Parts: sequence; C-alpha cells; structure tokens
Amino acid sequence: NERISMFGIDIDAIRMPQAVSQLMTWIEGERGEATKFVVTPNVDHTVLLQTSAGLRDAYRDASMVLADGWPVVFASRIFGKPLPERVTGSDLVPALFKAATGAGPLKTFLLGAAPGVAQRAAVNIHRQYPNVQIVGTYSPPLGFENDAEENQQILERIADSEAQLLVIGLGAPKQEIWIDKHKHQVTAKVALCAGATIDFLAG
Ligand code: UDP
Repeated sequence: NERISMFGIDIDAIRMPQAVSQLMTWIEGERGEATKFVVTPNVDHTVLLQTSAGLRDAYRDASMVLADGWPVVFASRIFGKPLPERVTGSDLVPALFKAATGAGPLKTFLLGAAPGVAQRAAVNIHRQYPNVQIVGTYSPPLGFENDAEENQQILERIADSEAQLLVIGLGAPKQEIWIDKHKHQVTAKVALCAGATIDFLAG
C-alpha cells in the first residue's frame, strides 16, 4: 500500500473495503513471526506521539495505519498527498465482522473495556454477525500493563481461546504500546487497536 506521511506518521492511503479485504487475507493466511496490528491515528494521537516513545515505536511497527479522524484526512488534502477517506476503528470492526463469511466462524477475542461491557458486546455481536464467534473477553485491572504475571495470564487466555482476531479497547496509547510489546506472544493473526469500539458494540 502507498503510505502518506502526515504529522510524522506514515498513514496507509486506503479505503475501508481495501482495509477489510487486506485484514481478511491476513486472518486467513499463516501467522507470521508476529501478530499484525492496526492503529488508527487521530489528531489526539499526534500530540501523544510527541511525548511517548512507546507509541512512536508502535506506529512504526504497525502493519496497517488508518486515518481515524477527519482533521488528518483534511490536512492531507491541504499539505500532502490526499488520503482517500477516513477509516475509523469503530467502523472497521463491524465492517470486518460483516465480511466474515469464511468456512468457519471468525474467532474473536475482546480485550478491554470496563468489566461486563465486553460480555454485553459479545451477545450483540453473536446476534448481529452469525459468522463471528467471540471466544473470549477480558477486562484487565488498572495498572495491569506493569504486572508481568497478569500479562502472562492474558496471553494464555488469548492462546487458549484460539482467537484469530484480537480487538483491543484499552484507550490510546495503552493499547498500541501493549500490542507492540506483546506482538510476538499474542497468538491471534491480527489485532486491532480499537479505542472505545467494545463500548459501542455493547450498545
Ligand atoms: N480502558 C480499559 N483499560 C484502561 C483504560 C481504558 O479497558 O486501563 C477502556 C475503556 O473502558 C474504554 C476504552 O478503553 O472502553 C477506550 O477508552 P478511551 O475512550 O479513553 O480511548 P480512546 O478511544 O480515546 O482511545
């Protein structure tokens, strides 16, 4: 994919249907040496990037970088090469669920959001997307990212679930830094840094 540099971030110049089909290809293919993960920069993130080396590393390592916010798309049209459209994480997740029409269900793990929220989201997802199976949910406690044992348990839950797709809703920059740090141990083929998407899916 062509990438366009905006606010020091290299962003994929792609539309939603291309993003979805690329993700389905990765999900259906062999897992590489690390989980492929998606980040969705908006203007808030460009501010965070100035002070967070961890977020800068995550953006550098991401397999797909999508313009979540209109201001980013707008700026690209004025200052650089135009990005074709805005592709938000909260639109991408349902679009991917809708595209899941493979032989078996798309096994998905929801990591993040407040306790109980991901379970509610799972009920709605099963109702709306029969080809998606939520194989696990987990709401980590505050400060979990610095607890090695807790992280080990999370990685085991994900592995045991046999999830192909991991949706991470821990807020930025926590979710991006977490997946970048654990991309070699996470067994899912694709992870999406999805902000408040699990809350939206819970209704
Ligand atoms: N969240 C979480 N653990 C945390 C911080 C946030 O599970 O330590 C969840 C929060 O409950 C919400 C999601 O992360 O579901 C997104 O939070 P926020 O809207 O702040 O993130 P953004 O969309 O700005 O990235």
